[in-house]
Amino acid sequence: MHCPFCDAPDTRVVDSRPAEGGEAIRRRRECPECGNRFTTYERREAALVVRKRNGTVQPFSAAKVLRGVSFAIADRPVPPGAVEGLVRDVEMLAQENGPEISSDQIGQWVLQGLRRIDQVAYLRFASVYKGFAGTRDFQQELAALEDRE
Ligand SMILES: [Zn+2]
Repeated sequence: MHCPFCDAPDTRVVDSRPAEGGEAIRRRRECPECGNRFTTYERREAALVVRKRNGTVQPFSAAKVLRGVSFAIADRPVPPGAVEGLVRDVEMLAQENGPEISSDQIGQWVLQGLRRIDQVAYLRFASVYKGFAGTRDFQQELAALEDRE
């Protein structure tokens, strides 16, 4: 870790001890260049989790998002890497909005991404995600899509 006083590239740890009731580790560091000391805290990163509609919580999984999208893009002329990019975007949004995300929110992000990639894939995903009751819902969504063009 850089020295905050002289910007030397490396500093050494002179003392480590538990802090915050064991939730963190406090380290004293010393700069070999200027001799100044400073303190750092090491903490566990909060795990990113997804709350489902039924209230259960699961760890976020990019692979699961990818599997969830795959039925929608089946047989569609989707450019290589487009869906992987979408999943990366969703993961980034989840990290920005975490540590707890609802599965509905993830569905919204996927929909926004699919709308840009392929409209048929978008409609397929929307019909499952939004639980379209029949062709009427489907037609409304289609009309909304056409309005945006
Ligand atoms: Zn220094």
